Amino acid sequence: MDYHPLGTLDYITKTALRKLQWEKFSATLEHVYHNVPWYKNRMQEKGVRLEDIRGMEDLRKLPFITKTDLRDTYPTGLFAAKQEKIVRLHASSGTTGKPIVCAYTQEDIEIWQETVLRALLAFGLHSGDILQNSYGYGLFTGGLGLHYGAEALGLTVIPVSGGNSERQILFLRDFGVTAISCTPSYFVHLLEIAEQMKVDFKKLPLKVGIFGAEPWTEGMRQVIQNGAGIKAYDIYGLTEISGPGVGAECEYQNGTHIFEDHFYPEIVDPDTLEPVPDGREGELVFTTLDKRGMPLLRYRTRDITRLFEEECPCGRTIRRMEKISHRSDDMFIIRGVNVFPSQIESALLAVEGSLPHYQIILTREHGLDNVEVQVEIDPNLIGDTIREMEQLQNSIHKRIETTIGIRVKVALLEPNRIPRSEGKAKRVIDKRTI
Ligand code: ADP
Ligand code: ZN
Repeated sequence: MDYHPLGTLDYITKTALRKLQWEKFSATLEHVYHNVPWYKNRMQEKGVRLEDIRGMEDLRKLPFITKTDLRDTYPTGLFAAKQEKIVRLHASSGTTGKPIVCAYTQEDIEIWQETVLRALLAFGLHSGDILQNSYGYGLFTGGLGLHYGAEALGLTVIPVSGGNSERQILFLRDFGVTAISCTPSYFVHLLEIAEQMKVDFKKLPLKVGIFGAEPWTEGMRQVIQNGAGIKAYDIYGLTEISGPGVGAECEYQNGTHIFEDHFYPEIVDPDTLEPVPDGREGELVFTTLDKRGMPLLRYRTRDITRLFEEECPCGRTIRRMEKISHRSDDMFIIRGVNVFPSQIESALLAVEGSLPHYQIILTREHGLDNVEVQVEIDPNLIGDTIREMEQLQNSIHKRIETTIGIRVKVALLEPNRIPRSEGKAKRVIDKRTI
């Protein structure tokens, strides 16, 4: 076990955790009730009084808050601290619409820093390690979020941000970088550039990749780990709750531990909104237990996952969730079937010859929806005869059909035909006009 006074919170006893959660939560509830009219009004509408909430189990009596509520209260409707206490603003990347702006007090920044620090400990990093932080700096939480936590742990941070890929490779090569943080899709792109520059990641001191901000499959993990000779860890987070470091994997890479002494998770059925038991899939909902700038109670993340009941062999007592592979915003419905891009990704990466660069194009013709999966293929692995191409196309067809239950069109592309992204990859292009 790594010893660090903050890291030990990961091993808190269940009883102590429950007590701590309630202490923090009851104070937060008082705080928002008296400082954010929106919460008071919603509670009154639902007929819930402060004194009805007597323990964590009463949380389910409270109303949910959604992305739409965050947009409707833009710009400062949910701020719970006086302006002079707010030290920073961030905004969600707006993958799905206009930005959502969140406010942080100094205490909030410290909580965030602490959870990132605990994530980095779980990845086996220590003072002496060198982190190249290739998440974008700015309104997006990835850059600054990782940055402060890494400095707090005593790492050397290179705040390179996203983009300028050749320079990224030079820094990785020349400064003895041992860890890199970015989106998994951008890392796969860096791997390509490194190959062109004749830099072999396997020969560098780089040992850890810290990947999040978008769903990525186990297949993608294998591509990255084998291609770069590193351990690829998941870090999860969202602007609304703080940023990266709401949860992180440990050395077992078998689920993302949630820092539940700060962020209280629930899984609810997205249709009935009733909590579901541990082990069952549903929508992830978070309550911030001790944030002050913009606390959120029962925030619906639209991320789909499940909580594990079993303890992790690493000994951490904080609970794990299944690595997020489904985000309801990305889901598309084809001929009545719900499809997630990650399902297509796992199918593609299970077929030898396909590269981790793909896009899903949705079109509508004569009222019928069509899906075309475009994937780049590795010319070194696949011969270029028509027969070999057809065989590959067939294998991909079959894989996708067994995974999602419908047949889609498959187009094989030469390398470098799909646009590369420096942040979150755009997997679905929806050209349907309703
Ligand atoms: P948005 O992308 O909604 O504009 P953010 O930049 O705050 O806003 O990103 C948060 C979202 O990114 C999460 O709700 C989740 O959908 C996705 N995400 C973050 N980390 C991960 C991860 N490790 N695995 C899968 N998805 C992730
Ligand atoms: Zn663990």
